[in-house]
Amino acid sequence: MLSIKNLHAAIEGSPILNGINLEIKAGEVHAIMGPNGSGKSTLASVLAGREEYEVTEGSVTFKNKNILELSPEDRAREGIFLAFQYPVEIPGVSSTNFLRTAVNQVREYRGQSPLDAVKFLSLMKEKMKLVEIDQKLLSRALNEGFSGGEKKKNEIFQMAMLEPTLSILDETDSGLDIDALKVVANGVNQLKTKDNATIVVTHYQRLLDYIVPDFVHVLYKGKIVKSGTKDLALELEAKGYDWIKDELSGAT
Ligand code: ADP
Ligand code: MG
Ligand code: MG
Repeated sequence: MLSIKNLHAAIEGSPILNGINLEIKAGEVHAIMGPNGSGKSTLASVLAGREEYEVTEGSVTFKNKNILELSPEDRAREGIFLAFQYPVEIPGVSSTNFLRTAVNQVREYRGQSPLDAVKFLSLMKEKMKLVEIDQKLLSRALNEGFSGGEKKKNEIFQMAMLEPTLSILDETDSGLDIDALKVVANGVNQLKTKDNATIVVTHYQRLLDYIVPDFVHVLYKGKIVKSGTKDLALELEAKGYDWIKDELSGAT
């Protein structure tokens, strides 16, 4: 589904990603971990197409298309969803209107007819049940005055409605209490199918107690320096990152 080859990216002339290689197949959950500043959010942003990052080398293909040529909007319409890193406050636009527009844009791109109000409502009900969201939350303005947990719920609900092929969850390293973690994890686990894939970016192992990844990768200085199964995340929790740095510098 996603193939990243020798990806290099820079911001304002400073190189941040220094040759990322990653293959993700449908049905898989990949966790990306690594110390602060290693380039995790940069990778997520580059995949989503945020324009302040400049790709200087390498390729990214998604469903056999070169997505580096696509705008962020077209990547979203192709089925890439980036969640969480930039919580938005848009007072006055209700979640429902926002979502109906977004969902119908995606449908139009996929050659499907737009959903009328009735059909949209029934899709909402189905998805709300799936991610266990309270209907009251949706009538409030998008993210206005939401608690951390409510924001996560809303993002997971958006994800459920948009049915992305590839979801990228970039956790901010702060403010995720245990309830928010569970909301995120339940949503991801409920939405997992054999046809979609998820990249979970996290600084902490604890999210992976709830979302069990198929693969764990360690990003360090803009490169994936180690890959493994969920056991690697436990090892990192126990031992930190220093042993990986030592391995890389050839120390024993
Ligand atoms: P992580 O998510 O792993 O903590 P980031 O991708 O946020 O790492 O950052 C990687 C590096 O890129 C850091 O050294 C950071 O300071 C730098 N960086 C990220 N965003 C910017 C920016 N907008 N301007 C300048 N430097 C940036
Ligand atoms: Mg960081
Ligand atoms: Mg980050």
